[in-house]
Amino acid sequence: MDLVEDTADGVRGSLQRLPSERLPAGDVLIRVQWSSLNYKDALAATGHPGVVRQLPHVPGIDAAGIVESSSSSDYQAGDRVLVTGYELGQSHWGAWAEYVRVPSSWIVPQPPGLTAREAMILGTAGFTAAQCVMAIQRNEVGPELGEVVVTGATGGVGSLSVRLLAKLGYRVVAVTGKKDWHEQLRRWGAARVMDRSEVCDTSERPMLRGQWAGGVDTVGGVTLATLLRSTRYGGCIAACGLVGGAELQMSVYPFLLRGVTLAGVASADCPYPRRLEIWNRLAGEWRLSELDSQVTEVPLDDVDREVRRILNGEQVGRVIVRIGA
Ligand code: NDP
Repeated sequence: MDLVEDTADGVRGSLQRLPSERLPAGDVLIRVQWSSLNYKDALAATGHPGVVRQLPHVPGIDAAGIVESSSSSDYQAGDRVLVTGYELGQSHWGAWAEYVRVPSSWIVPQPPGLTAREAMILGTAGFTAAQCVMAIQRNEVGPELGEVVVTGATGGVGSLSVRLLAKLGYRVVAVTGKKDWHEQLRRWGAARVMDRSEVCDTSERPMLRGQWAGGVDTVGGVTLATLLRSTRYGGCIAACGLVGGAELQMSVYPFLLRGVTLAGVASADCPYPRRLEIWNRLAGEWRLSELDSQVTEVPLDDVDREVRRILNGEQVGRVIVRIGA
């Protein structure tokens, strides 16, 4: 397992072999085949106190694997399963390990139509992107209403949001800070690509020209405030991220005068029935073609470099972690 500890040189992760008794409580033991790297994992790997409450810690908020043993009547040895979110990789040791032990209530059967590896290419990023798309749909923003915007578009949640929205027929405007990746964003289905600086309005104007019917924001801060102020009447922005800032400074005018909806997305505690529905959609009607596009595959002992890249905002697409596959 990748054990993150407080050492004389600061918080460090290293591969260690510990007895399974050290794993946290749970009624199902899963042999992990694949995990992934999300922004939150990078924070956990560096001991960020907002994510990790206690050291030593094992990161990994996503797991795909095979049940090794179970005292729950819901699962048997050999079952193919997934776990994303809940406390996995936060207060509960996570999936950057050969085994995880979890409560059976956290487990989702691996949906037919997705391999364990493909499920981790999606991982929490794909699960969150799907929730953002569902939030936009619930607020009755259909493709016919105009452009939808996605920020942090080359990242995990962003790229999968672009691809899902494009698949569903939306005209997607991808916002990125990476000048060399515009063509890739178009290949993923973006109709238009904008530079990040164009959705960063620091003026105090309470509202801006209405441009979007909806959107997915992974950035937060000034970017989210800019999107909300430039959303058209009745539009909806699904907000899930904070790579650009946790503050939201703006007036309430877009809500009062344009009926704009700010839909929060919190994937870790997504209720179980919706969780099942999302995974089944991702494996079925929303299944993306060429899931392997821009996937970096690393063994557990090589994850550090990717952690630094994601923390620097340099990651493109998804990183999956090969463990027992
Ligand atoms: P990634 O690092 O893969 O993607 C983030 C992208 O945001 C980057 O690739 C970059 O894209 C852009 N970006 C990075 N830094 C900045 C910056 N300072 N200002 C503006 N844009 C920036 O991360 P994830 O996709 O894993 O996560 C994205 C966000 O969503 C994180 O804040 C994460 O915590 C959050 N999240 C929330 C969830 C929830 O349930 N609410 C679940 C999953 C993730 P580009 O260069 O294309 O602009």
